[in-house]
Amino acid sequence: MLCENGVIAGILDTGARVDADERYDAAGKLVLPGFIDPHVHSRDPGATHKEDFEHSTRGALTGGVTTVLEMPNAIPPVDSAEVFAQRRAQHEVSAWTDFGLWGLALGEPNIDEIGPLFAAGAVAVKLFWGYALHRETRSLVYNLGDEPPENLLMPPPNGQVMRLFEEVARHGGLLAAHCEDKDVLATSQERLGHPIESYEDLLAARPAAAEATTIAIATEFAKATGARFHVVHLASEAGLEAVRAAQARGVRLTAETCPQYLTLTDADYPRVGPVMKVYPPVREQRDQDALWAGVNEGALVSLGSDHAPHTVEEKSRGFETQPAGAVGCETFGPVLIDALLRGKTTPTRFAEVTATETAKLYGLYPRKASSAPAATPTWWSSTPRPGGRCATRS
Ligand SMILES: [Zn+2]
Repeated sequence: MLCENGVIAGILDTGARVDADERYDAAGKLVLPGFIDPHVHSRDPGATHKEDFEHSTRGALTGGVTTVLEMPNAIPPVDSAEVFAQRRAQHEVSAWTDFGLWGLALGEPNIDEIGPLFAAGAVAVKLFWGYALHRETRSLVYNLGDEPPENLLMPPPNGQVMRLFEEVARHGGLLAAHCEDKDVLATSQERLGHPIESYEDLLAARPAAAEATTIAIATEFAKATGARFHVVHLASEAGLEAVRAAQARGVRLTAETCPQYLTLTDADYPRVGPVMKVYPPVREQRDQDALWAGVNEGALVSLGSDHAPHTVEEKSRGFETQPAGAVGCETFGPVLIDALLRGKTTPTRFAEVTATETAKLYGLYPRKASSAPAATPTWWSSTPRPGGRCATRS
């Protein structure tokens, strides 16, 4: 495999003589495509006391990730083509990896920006389905009690969500969402009858049925509108069953899961501690086993870290009041390679869910994750590193 200027220039016959500056003997080793982490929240701009893009992409690269797809919920969020252009220009000078940008879908408030976001190169648009946002900053409100009601921008009702599916279908784009039904969550929390104090409480307040319910609704909307829909960070066996049911009906619905759901269970909580609080929560062993089966059988097509840093001070707050989210883009590759070496999946499937299928899903294939020689790199810009190239949809 001959590489020139950072891209594959040719696949040569064994024993071919070639003048090269560097040579690597990969006999007996696995040669994998650079990982694509499609689910990274770098907090830049607006919350860089948590982390900035220079740092998150350097961490990602350390772990073998060569392309980061950055989530839109920084401050301000990428909810218009105008902010998309600003964000792209900002990140091009600080990124250590190539990168793509997500757009934010709010429902009616920015329905007219969905087309322009895709035209600008958004790899997909993300709906924080069921999450309230801060009215001014449009940042996520992790715990509803954190903000007075007048500061909350409530999630769009399902009628608006269906309209969003239509709009995404019209532009041939990809819509992804956090799938946990807010009404199921609210009632489950009420029935708990007291604040969340233990990991058991967290699982009772956020049952797997909340995930499966939203996926079932998304299935109907995707079927009715023809939109492509992607479930991010799938965490439960029930959710996986809903994904399989959609796929069996021929609905264009795909799903992602994350290393934390594939390697941790509720039994790890005493060891890992409250920092393990992520939404949706890490569940039981049977969920983890089901998710590996989903990866290996093809129902789950892509893995992402859901890298979501907070400060140590924030994550040290009580279990109930700390924000959900944990870091992961640097450990994404090593943790998954460890699982590969433990026999959880095959090298081929591993390369698909960490690179090839992900590249296809987000319109980056074959510019990314292909071993075919790149005749004409089609990047929009070629700023020398540091300064990643913005990977836009083809
Ligand atoms: Zn996320």
